[in-house]
Amino acid sequence: MLALFSASAAAAAYVGGGVGHRTAALARSHHHHHHTPALLMQAPADTTTPARARREDMGAAGRSASEVAVGLNRADWKREVDKARSGSVTAVRVRHILVQTDELGEMLRQQLREGASFGELAAAASACDTRDKGGEVGWSGVNDEHLDEILPKEVRAQAIGMKPGDVALVRSERGVHVVQVVDVFQTLNIDSNPRTRGLPGTGRRPTPLIQLLRKSREDERGLHQLSAAAGEEAGEEAGEGAAGEGAAAVGELMRNSGKSGRRSLAMKYSMDTMGCQMNAADAERMEGQLRALGFQKADDPSDAQVIVINTCSIREHAEAKVYSYLGPHAKRKNAGEDMAIVVAGCVAQQEGEALLRRVPEIDLVMGPQYANRLGDLLEGVFNGNQIVATAPTHIMEDPAQPKRASTVCAWVNVIYGCNERCTYCVVPTTRGSEQSRPRDAVRAEIEQLVADGYREVTLLGQNIDSWGSDLSPRQSFAELLRDVGATPGLARLRFVTSHPKYMSPRVVDAVAETAAACPMFHIPFQSGDDDILRAMERGYTAERFKQIVAQIRARLPDAAITADAIVGFPGETDAQFENTLRLMEEVKFDQLNTAAYSPRPHTPAALWDNQVDEAVKKERLQRINALAAEHALERRQRYLGRLEEVLVEQRNPKHPGQVKGRNRQGCPVFLEGDIDELKGQLVAVRITEAHTYWLIGEAEGEKFAGGRYVDDGASVVLEV
Ligand code: SAM
Ligand code: SF4
Repeated sequence: MLALFSASAAAAAYVGGGVGHRTAALARSHHHHHHTPALLMQAPADTTTPARARREDMGAAGRSASEVAVGLNRADWKREVDKARSGSVTAVRVRHILVQTDELGEMLRQQLREGASFGELAAAASACDTRDKGGEVGWSGVNDEHLDEILPKEVRAQAIGMKPGDVALVRSERGVHVVQVVDVFQTLNIDSNPRTRGLPGTGRRPTPLIQLLRKSREDERGLHQLSAAAGEEAGEEAGEGAAGEGAAAVGELMRNSGKSGRRSLAMKYSMDTMGCQMNAADAERMEGQLRALGFQKADDPSDAQVIVINTCSIREHAEAKVYSYLGPHAKRKNAGEDMAIVVAGCVAQQEGEALLRRVPEIDLVMGPQYANRLGDLLEGVFNGNQIVATAPTHIMEDPAQPKRASTVCAWVNVIYGCNERCTYCVVPTTRGSEQSRPRDAVRAEIEQLVADGYREVTLLGQNIDSWGSDLSPRQSFAELLRDVGATPGLARLRFVTSHPKYMSPRVVDAVAETAAACPMFHIPFQSGDDDILRAMERGYTAERFKQIVAQIRARLPDAAITADAIVGFPGETDAQFENTLRLMEEVKFDQLNTAAYSPRPHTPAALWDNQVDEAVKKERLQRINALAAEHALERRQRYLGRLEEVLVEQRNPKHPGQVKGRNRQGCPVFLEGDIDELKGQLVAVRITEAHTYWLIGEAEGEKFAGGRYVDDGASVVLEV
């Protein structure tokens, strides 16, 4: 199945590995038959009862997520997740440089750590013929004897235990190999059960969607991508092995679609995304895969054969939305429509198979770590299976081009997951432990974006400062920032989110010294009270947070500083809440995202008995929002009369004669202008009005494609 998406023909050899079906407990008891769409409109009782722990598929088998999240210390938890992850790796994509001495190998490893290009080092220093291909060996499994003369078995055996981005020195009879893992391939660690029984109420077995797919005419671009990615082998190779049926069916789809003159309805998908930028970025990658499979986006979700809801569980109401959203689709399915319902994202990870029990119409429940494998998982669904994919896994490099929402600004994940254990937060259990993407992969993605005309890139991570700390050898985010910030043609580089515990002056320096890096920092402080911060296990004090702000202001006086804060955390007194307001007064954030504390499943704070009254939370939320808005307006006013560099992104949806862009600090700016002329341009804009969360201005002088405005303290000058 991988063959469908992998650029490497060698990868096709792993198709036979196929889907590792864990046929464990997907059994549905009869009371599901009593489910009606009306029932789906309500949030299930147990997500609002934090004290009730539910089984979940994180950590080692048989251990519930709450035990993993609450009962284990951080190191043990991470070890368990990592072990579960690497268990099912069957092949790694590797590059190597062959040298004769350890010293030379060590030197190369150090250069790689500092950001040297693997390909160039291989070309210059490797004694292996692979130097002509930048050291690329391709997909390697331990038993790939055809690779013995290039990468002897002991080297392959060691490589299989490495993570993407890791570099190691391994000795063989050929010499010393500087080995880098570029990507990993794992068999899918999923629960999969055939849908043998009918859906509630209808007694009808749904027609596998694959039959419809076969009839469907491939959209030209989808086919192009698919065949370019898969090569000719995919169709044939895919016919074998455990995964055979699904892969063969899609192979047939590819062959059929090659025959011209056949016309039938294109298959459609709908994708709805809730929550944060991580989810939005995951959605873009999932859409990319659906398009590669030949699906088109449906204008109306009720026309779609594949319905994806990409969920958020950061707060309670986000979860309740999932159930109300699913209602109408479950109804369609019960009425006999042939369609697949997919629940992705954090609620999927958190609830796992419980979702299938609650809403048996769902076909696929997949956690965020599986976003890059939607295509693979759907094949199982097309063959009539119900699937749960929530076990910890490595995140493979993007198998398909993401379908990006913008043509000007792009998101690039640099680190997935989170190793922190903030006592209120579900993210570590929904997104797993940290996985940094290899520097080369990030670099290559950004170079491609620039080549495709993108001007701005935002690097994404829950705790972006820890990028590289899980790589071997360790690398630093500040260095990554300088490195990718130097990509020729990249106008702007942003990054989120900085954690105060890890935020270092080196990052501030890197921003100050990297032309493309924008002067803005998103550093959630959560609370201004030290006791609350301790109870949250945030790992810093209000004083430390203020030091960070002072460091930024000293180096980049005009930088925007934004944050998140929570009110009504368990035990928060009026005085402690006032400390949060006091911190805000001292810092004056450009923007603050606020939330009333919401108890989340599998988090320690949800179990505490000192929960704050809802009415009190509500009142605090109103007060904090009022103050945040006051500060936001005050901060925006500094732009009045100034000339700002604005990157134009889109038409103002409300006034088609206006365009919308953002200044370097990330503040939205509206101006009169023609979108066709200005889209993707950096425009010099004189700011005439400051509102709480946006600015209005007029284009001044010529638009320009290069150069940038620099604030020299007294005025803003154009440096070309
Ligand atoms: N990793 C980032 C950090 O540590 O700052 C934030 C990630 S989280 C997706 C985004 C924000 O949601 C958090 O900063 C926090 O303010 C808020 N949040 C998380 N859990 C929450 C909860 N249980 N109740 C209310 N807000 C919450
Ligand atoms: Fe991780 Fe941020 Fe959640 Fe803390 S708040 S656990 S750092 S994602």
